Amino acid sequence: MKTKQWILSILSGTLLVGAGVVATMYVTEWREPTATYLETTDPQLIQIREDLEAYKAKLRKEEKYFCCIKNDCNWCAIHMGHCPCGDLVMEKGVEKSCPDCAAAWNKKQGKIPGVDPDAIQVTTFGIYGYEEGGHHAPTNASGTEHHEK
Ligand SMILES: [Zn+2]
Ligand SMILES: [Zn+2]
Repeated sequence: MKTKQWILSILSGTLLVGAGVVATMYVTEWREPTATYLETTDPQLIQIREDLEAYKAKLRKEEKYFCCIKNDCNWCAIHMGHCPCGDLVMEKGVEKSCPDCAAAWNKKQGKIPGVDPDAIQVTTFGIYGYEEGGHHAPTNASGTEHHEK
């Protein structure tokens, strides 16, 4: 194959992939874009991210991660070892979520229908000492154990 043809075929391949990505985004239920980490060559950071993703996958399997945004927050995994945000944003009148989730809702991109994005108050569950405690017990699919103590 001549170089020119080769370049052309690569170009059209790239265009096809690009069109595929756009089509996928178009049919996606909500508009939150896929999360990507900033590139790094720092092995420690690479390890942390891999561990975090694996940890979140484990928590999801154990039904301890009821998140409300497409990309599943990292905040709750790191600070609490479970995510109650999916329940919390649905509590009418007292809607709240962790900072990660609040960032998505702020852009009207949460994934739970019927939630008012403007009603959500950001909370750090007392972890930084800004507000009263309220560490949440891990919730599960039946979602009973998530009210503040
Ligand atoms: Zn969430
Ligand atoms: Zn969260």
